Amino acid sequence: MGNEIEKVSCLIIGSGPAGYTAAIYASRANLHPVLYQGIQPGGQLTITTEVENYPGYPEGVQGPEMMVDFEKQAKRMGADIRYGMATKVDFHSRPFKVWIDEEKEMHADAVIIATGASAKWLGLESEQRLNGFGVSACAVCDGFFFRGKEVAIVGAGDTAAEEAHYLSKLCTTVHMFIRRDQMRASKIMQDRVKNTPNIKMYWNTETEEILGDKKVEAVRIKDTVTQQSQEIPISGFFVAIGHQPNSDIFKGQLDMDETGYIKTIPGTSKTNIEGVFACGDVQDKNYRQAVTAAGSGCMAAIDAERFLAAQGH
Ligand code: NDP
Repeated sequence: MGNEIEKVSCLIIGSGPAGYTAAIYASRANLHPVLYQGIQPGGQLTITTEVENYPGYPEGVQGPEMMVDFEKQAKRMGADIRYGMATKVDFHSRPFKVWIDEEKEMHADAVIIATGASAKWLGLESEQRLNGFGVSACAVCDGFFFRGKEVAIVGAGDTAAEEAHYLSKLCTTVHMFIRRDQMRASKIMQDRVKNTPNIKMYWNTETEEILGDKKVEAVRIKDTVTQQSQEIPISGFFVAIGHQPNSDIFKGQLDMDETGYIKTIPGTSKTNIEGVFACGDVQDKNYRQAVTAAGSGCMAAIDAERFLAAQGH
């Protein structure tokens, strides 16, 4: 243990639509890619329900099922798909080095990063302490546990709107806390929330603390205009305030923007290091769709193939 080294031509890190698509293309280009799935094989789509906007599924498809299909397709093309988490990288010289689960050392001529993004948290002590005991960042995963109960959700984007609507079908009341006097969500999603009678909206509202000893029992919020605080009894508290890119292990090696999104040369998947490519949500804060992630995974595989060909591989 500790110094097992394996050399591959193309290493893919991450297993959402971007990673799997890169694996499909790289396999078909005979790059014999090895893909490490990370701790959440299939990525964010595995914690969603119905996907209605991915072309080719006229009746819609369940997110987890779609990711199983992507994986099967990548395997059928010959990709070597493995469970494991990249914990450290060294891109300073070639071959690039990537450590898996802190023990296995992979050497690769080209690396495709498809590590995606993760949910953001408010940063309250109580939120961390009660995580898993009534606090969740995924209504679709955990809403079921709060059937027939009162819950709260914080956020005002499309995710919060979608999740509030989802919860409204399971829970008696959904208290929705919006920090400004307007929502960021698209008009259609805002209308859906506003027209759902058991979603109660609170504008200019800040979450001060989630209350409860061993599980969530209430939340204390503050109206930032009147400065009045109030407590609302709830059983579940959902956080839906956006995502952050999973790029920590690449810090100091790859160029990133101020929020950690990996920078790619526009119109390509190329990072500042030749031979290292990025695709999907880890480099996209604008579109963040399964189909755009898949498209960028395809780009990364083609860019990697051309890079490797130019290197004489
Ligand atoms: P967004 O970044 O769009 O929205 C995050 C929301 O959380 C904002 O309303 C923001 O408030 C609020 N927020 C951020 N930090 C805090 C905080 N500390 N306290 C309280 N509120 C906070 O993220 P989403 O995940 O909603 O959406 C991401 C992308 O995915 C978007 O482009 C969206 O359109 C897309 N999407 C599309 C869907 C669809 O079409 N069906 C479904 C889900 C997502 P503020 O507005 O004040 O900044």
